[in-house]
Order: sequence, then C-alpha cells, then structure tokens
Amino acid sequence: MRVPSVGVLSLQGDFARHRASLEALGARVVRVSLPGHLEGLDALVLPGGESTTMLRLLELTGLRAPLETFARCRPVLGTCAGVILLGRDSGELPAPPLGVLDIAVERNAYGRQVDSFSTPVETAVAPGFHGVFIRAPRIRRVGPGVEVVARRAADGEPVGVRAGRAVGLCFHPELTPDLGFHRWFLAEVAGLALPGAPPRAAAGMWPGDARAGLDGEPAAAGSRGAR
Ligand code: GLN
Repeated sequence: MRVPSVGVLSLQGDFARHRASLEALGARVVRVSLPGHLEGLDALVLPGGESTTMLRLLELTGLRAPLETFARCRPVLGTCAGVILLGRDSGELPAPPLGVLDIAVERNAYGRQVDSFSTPVETAVAPGFHGVFIRAPRIRRVGPGVEVVARRAADGEPVGVRAGRAVGLCFHPELTPDLGFHRWFLAEVAGLALPGAPPRAAAGMWPGDARAGLDGEPAAAGSRGAR
C-alpha cells in the first residue's frame, strides 16, 4: 500500500505536534519550508502559530504563490493561525490571507494568551471531542458553500468549517490524543488510504496540555509556546 505524503507548513508555530498526530495515523510527513517541498504531497496542514509571522515568512521564502495554488486545488487543513491564513477576510495582516475559505475571521477574539481554554466541541467528525483554544480566532461569517463541521457545545458558535477539500479549525486538534479530526481529514476529506492506522485514541487531553502555551510570548519555531 502506498504511504500518503502529508506536508506540514514548518516556518513557525506548532508543526511538531501535527507531525506526531499524522505519523500516528501512518502518514509520511514532510516539513514544508520551501516551494520545492510541496512537490508530490497528497495533503497539507497549516499549523497554529502566529499568522502575521507566517504571512511574512511565506513572502520571504517564495512559498506564498505555490502554497496558495496548492491550497486551492488540493486537500488542506488549517488550524488556529492556519484558519486565519485560509480565510478570505481575516482583519489587519501584513499581507492578504490566502482566501481559500469564504469566511470572515476575527483574530485573538477570545482575548489574550491567558484567556485560552479547552471546551467540548459538537461535531460528527469526532464525537466527545474537546477543543484546545489558544489565543484563538472566532469565525464571524460563514459564506455560502462553506459547511460548519464543528461548533462550541456551550454556545453553538462555529469553530470548524469545510469547503470542498479545505478545512479550517479554530482549535488545536494536535494537542489532544483524539486523532479524530486528523483521521477524518486524511481519510474522508483527502480520500487517502491510511496504512496501519491504530484505532482512534480515547478522548481527552495530553497530560499537562491544559496549561500548555498559556504563558509567555511566542518562542522559537516548533516550541509549544509559539501559538
Ligand atoms: N493569535 C494567533 C494569530 O493571530 C493564532 C493563535 C494560534 O494559532 N494558536 O495568528
């Protein structure tokens, strides 16, 4: 069986934990930091981090145009800063977002880093899922043709959307042991066969992650503080 090749944008932010989740499902993970790294990928993940920094680095690395092309026609999953990048209207940023999802997103709309939280998410994708929201954006408008795939259980607010093969989540599925969203993205959205994927892990938080990244400012690339 062919092993699916999944890229994780690795300019800054939370790429290491996405890698672990994708590898746990049997995917081969490619760190994407230059245009050539997009070649031959079956799907791409845009991690959480700092969208302003990522947009600047996309320009500097020459990744912006090829990544936009990829995201328009191939499977892409954006989480937290990633959904800000995928949105059409994401507020003030150093460069326009990619506009792949017809949504309006408000950055840092729940408050500062200390206002981060975890809360139950209502979704058919992964029943019983808890979303970790870290300086998370809020989806303020969902355009026609965009499907809401996850809502905050507490107030019904949309926190996950899909349009075709593009998925955006306001929370961090890579910070919980529940692989449901990654599995759904690879198998259902991207249509990839997953070799030797273990059964879905029990829902819950990784020990200690409730407080992960809640203090301090964004740190070096790949560190857990950089979200
Ligand atoms: N607040 C960040 C931004 O605006 C996103 C935070 C995150 O990805 N956890 O890009």
